[in-house]
Amino acid sequence: MFEELSLKIDAALKKITGQGRLTEANISDTLREIRRILLDADVNYKVAKDFIDKVKEKALGKEVIASITPGQLITKIIYDELVELLGGGHSEIFLNPTGATIILVVGLQGSGKTTFSAKLAKRLKERKRKVLLVAADIYRPAAIEQLKILGQQVDVPVFSLEQKDARLVASESLKYVKEKGFDTLIIDTAGRLHVDEEMMKEVADIKEIVKPTETLFVVDSMTGQDAVNSAKAFNETVNFDGIVLSKLDGDARGGAAISIRSVVGKPIKFVSNGEKLENLDVFYPDRLASRILGKGDIVSLVEKAQETIDEFEAKKMEEKLRKNKFDFEDFLKQIKLIKKMGSLSSLIGMIPGLGSQIKNAQIDDKALVKVEAIINSMTKQERENPKVLNGSRRKRIARGSGTTIQDVNRLIKQFQEMQRMMSMMNKKGFFNSSNKNFK
Ligand code: GDP
Repeated sequence: MFEELSLKIDAALKKITGQGRLTEANISDTLREIRRILLDADVNYKVAKDFIDKVKEKALGKEVIASITPGQLITKIIYDELVELLGGGHSEIFLNPTGATIILVVGLQGSGKTTFSAKLAKRLKERKRKVLLVAADIYRPAAIEQLKILGQQVDVPVFSLEQKDARLVASESLKYVKEKGFDTLIIDTAGRLHVDEEMMKEVADIKEIVKPTETLFVVDSMTGQDAVNSAKAFNETVNFDGIVLSKLDGDARGGAAISIRSVVGKPIKFVSNGEKLENLDVFYPDRLASRILGKGDIVSLVEKAQETIDEFEAKKMEEKLRKNKFDFEDFLKQIKLIKKMGSLSSLIGMIPGLGSQIKNAQIDDKALVKVEAIINSMTKQERENPKVLNGSRRKRIARGSGTTIQDVNRLIKQFQEMQRMMSMMNKKGFFNSSNKNFK
């Protein structure tokens, strides 16, 4: 699903990863490329343009906070906009609590209406509804037969008539429902290969007769902009309530999925991703966005960082580094911050591309615990000025923290090493505010 689109977006975003900060020039390049990729994937032109404009507006106003890269930040912005474009939250099917739930299923021939009707019947039966399927696709005898077979598989009865009159089938099915005490009706209507007036009129008439509680439009997502155009035409005549994207399992490009909600203004409610009767899912915009970007983990990483990192704290730390006043107390704060974001290995595991390589290298979270224990055993004065740590104090600290004197010595040595490096970098002007690495 969406492999082609995912791969291309990933490649475009890689180009920005690792650069110092977001600039007008480097986001413009990346965004221009992403726009081209969207158009290649058959996303509606206006949808692609508006999308890129919004991402750009958000990105340019954003500061790159400590601990995430500009590439990760822009990935998150694109992700948020994509979720929004796909409809924000998910949208449930309406189940009538006071009377019968009547679901009218419409769409072009071959879009997957009959398959979807049976899948939905299965799903609602599992939710303890008394479901009846109605075969109103009277032009193709095979369609009625197909629905009967599927109905048997999901153990749901199918209503059909010998007469070739879809309007009659619809009205008779309503009577049957009352007689037999069903509470949920799923009506599978006839489609044509193309949108034509006669079909539209029939669907509109059936809608008038049955007064559905919900009309769902099924569309083959692999047909790209054709899918969007037929959705527009159906919506103008039938005014449906929701969209079902079918055959998503075969859709490498994703153009229909991305554009349809925004062009038609109706929510996507279900996605169908296989021929089997259990291959039906409620549509979640966030899950699809993660799938398209292939970067769900980066998004949660940035979210965690944004929740955790206090900008003011970060500035204070930077100031301390610059003045070479970074002490063990600050070190401890940083460790706590990392811990708040999860373990070091889980954080690193979240970074796509890095995950598997680093996992093999076995990040030792325990080392961090040891360091924290050692610093915790120091007095405040010792943390601020490690030079006062003599042999006997080091021994006490080792005992207090459940470590060895070697561990304590190593940490102090490393820390002094780091301070020396900071002071050298300072002299070379590494922390000048004009330096892009620390902006
Ligand atoms: P209808 O004419 O709109 O009723 O369409 P059908 O339900 O008969 O579906 C047309 C074809 O698409 C059938 O061969 C189905 O098995 C197939 N199909 C339907 N939904 C899916 C899906 O989600 N994935 C795949 N791969 N095939 C599907």
